[in-house]
Amino acid sequence: MIIVMGPEVTDEQVGTVVKKLEAAGLKANVSRGIERTVIGAIGDERKLEADMFTSLPGVESAMHIAKQYKIVSREAHKKNTVIDIRGVPLGGNQIQIIGGPCSVETQEQMDLSAKYVKEAGCRLMRGGAFKPRTSPYAFQGHGVEGLDMFRKAADKFNLPIVTELMDARQIDAFMEYDVDVIQIGTRNMQNFDLLKEVGRINKPVILKRGMSATISEWLMSAEYIAAGGNHNIIFCERGIRTFETAYRNVLDVTAIPVLKKETHLPVIVDPSHAGGKAWMVPALSQAAIAAGADGLLIEMHPSPCDAWCDADQALTPDELKKLMGTLGVIAGAIGRTL
Ligand code: PEP
Ligand code: MN
Repeated sequence: MIIVMGPEVTDEQVGTVVKKLEAAGLKANVSRGIERTVIGAIGDERKLEADMFTSLPGVESAMHIAKQYKIVSREAHKKNTVIDIRGVPLGGNQIQIIGGPCSVETQEQMDLSAKYVKEAGCRLMRGGAFKPRTSPYAFQGHGVEGLDMFRKAADKFNLPIVTELMDARQIDAFMEYDVDVIQIGTRNMQNFDLLKEVGRINKPVILKRGMSATISEWLMSAEYIAAGGNHNIIFCERGIRTFETAYRNVLDVTAIPVLKKETHLPVIVDPSHAGGKAWMVPALSQAAIAAGADGLLIEMHPSPCDAWCDADQALTPDELKKLMGTLGVIAGAIGRTL
C-alpha cells in the first residue's frame, strides 16, 4: 500500500502513519519529495484497508498496490488450471458445452433433455432443482426431488451434472446426489457465508458473475471459495445490467480476455441468461468462443414453448445440435477443439 501525505504534513502525522503500519505488522518506507511525502507499506498489505489511513490527519490518499486476491490470481499460478469433472477436462484446449433445461420439471423432460444434450455432443448437463425466481409465486423448483430426477436422467447418458446451490442447508442433499458441479448463481455471488461453505467442499464450483459486479468483486468472491481450500472454481459471465433494455442483460465479452489474464482458472459464458432470447444465443455463443471462453452454459429444452422457466431463451434440441457444428468451426480456427 502507498500512503500519500498532504502538502503541509508534519513529522508527527508521518509518525502516526508509521506507527499504525508497524502495529499491523508491516514496515514503513518514508520517501520525502519536494511536494509530497509518500509512505510505502512493506509486508502483507492485504490486511490493510485504505480508510485505516485516509481517516488520519495529514493523509491525502491511500491505495493498494498488490492485488487483493491471491490464490485465484495468475501471478500465483502461471499455467491455466484444468478442472477434471468426472473425466471431462474444463480449462484445457478442449471447449466444453454444458447443455440442459433451465429447471428440472418432470422425469420425462429430464430423460429427453439428457438424450438431446448427449446427441448434440455436449459432455456435461445443466438443470436447476432449486430455482432463484424473482417472484415468490413462480415455480421455485422441485428441490431434492429435482436432484433425484436429474441424477437418474443424466446417469443414463453418463453426463456429469451442474446445478445451482442457493443455501448451505442444501449441501447435504447435493453430496447425497453426488452433484458434479455446484453452480452459484448471480444473485449469490456475494453471499459470502455460502461461498465459505462451498470453499470447504471438494466439488468444482461455477461462480456466476453478480449482475452488477465488477471484475475485481467477482475475483474476490472466487478468492473466498479458494481461501477455504476449494481451488476448483470456474468463472461464468452471464451478462450484466446496464441502461440497455433491448435484451435481458449485456454480455460482457471483454470480461473473457480480462479474466483469462487475471486468473488461471477456467472462464465460461452463459449466453442464454445474457441475451434472454433463443435467437440471440448462437451469435453470443460464437462471440464467446472466439473471445477465448473455455466453455458455455446453454439452456435447451425438448419443447421450449412448454418450459416452466425461461421458455424464451431455450434452444430446441435441433438448434443446439446445429450450434455445436458452428462452434466446432470457430474452435478449430483458434486452435482449440470442441
Ligand atoms: C440459471 O443458470 O438457471 C440461473 C438462474 O442463472 P443466473 O444465476 O445467471 O440468473
Ligand atoms: Mn434460466
